[in-house]
Amino acid sequence: MHVVRGSLLESLTLAEVRRRRRVNRLLQRLDRLDPRPRPGLSPRRRATAAVLLLVLLLVGAWRLAMTGERRATFPDRPADAQARPIGKPPTPKVTSSAFEFVQKQPGSSDPVTYDPCAPIHLVVDPRTMVDKGMRMLQEAAEEVRAATGLSLVVDGLTDTGPSSPRAMASADGTTWSPVLVSWSDPDEAPKLSGGTAGYAGSTAVEHDGHRWYVTGEVTLDGPQIRKTLALDGWGAARSVLMHELGHLVGLGHVDARGQLMQPMRESGLESWGDGDRSGLAALGRGRCIDY
Ligand SMILES: [Zn+2]
Repeated sequence: MHVVRGSLLESLTLAEVRRRRRVNRLLQRLDRLDPRPRPGLSPRRRATAAVLLLVLLLVGAWRLAMTGERRATFPDRPADAQARPIGKPPTPKVTSSAFEFVQKQPGSSDPVTYDPCAPIHLVVDPRTMVDKGMRMLQEAAEEVRAATGLSLVVDGLTDTGPSSPRAMASADGTTWSPVLVSWSDPDEAPKLSGGTAGYAGSTAVEHDGHRWYVTGEVTLDGPQIRKTLALDGWGAARSVLMHELGHLVGLGHVDARGQLMQPMRESGLESWGDGDRSGLAALGRGRCIDY
């Protein structure tokens, strides 16, 4: 399962288009009024021109305020970002097309990716976490790092549940929110009902015409993964976390045997398939954010 939240981006873009149209309309009306001071201009027309000018100034001020707000949601360069990609994705031994990207760049077949020059920070809500769940997450994150070159850093614990509304950036706007990994259950996260062991997705922002994932959420069904651990062992349970981290960094579902990104877990399959590896390598070759 995956969740993509693009609505904020879409509404910002639409609002921008609407604002531009409104300003253009006002400009055209002012053009028609011809605001150059002329002795023949009637006091009524002069007043109308003054009112329109005031409206235009207010719209301008509002636009400036909006720009400020948008800039505030785009934090400064992270202190731990580097000038070059932190890791290097491996060249898969077998090239396979058995993968799907969650999102592509507009008008392109290139995927939306995380910034390979900065670590992806994760925090963990451990409410229903399985025994040694932090180690399991570390191992799954290491499998993603090895296949993408992306640096996933588990910062520690939090008590933020998956149902809390989550901002893209910190309250002071200086950093992106860390990825929230919630060990949850179907009572707290209804999307986990019906046998779904987890779901994950990332939020993309657009900057200079390019899109990047900047934060995301992974929600895991602790009780169900505990059952998988008891019945099928560590590798099987860990493969659920790998699947969800695969979604997090941008892989969608694929209907191809031997791939961890199949919607249903394949019995006995505990490591990336050739398609998974090809897709993950591509997701590690994204552009760095130019802050
Ligand atoms: Zn899935």
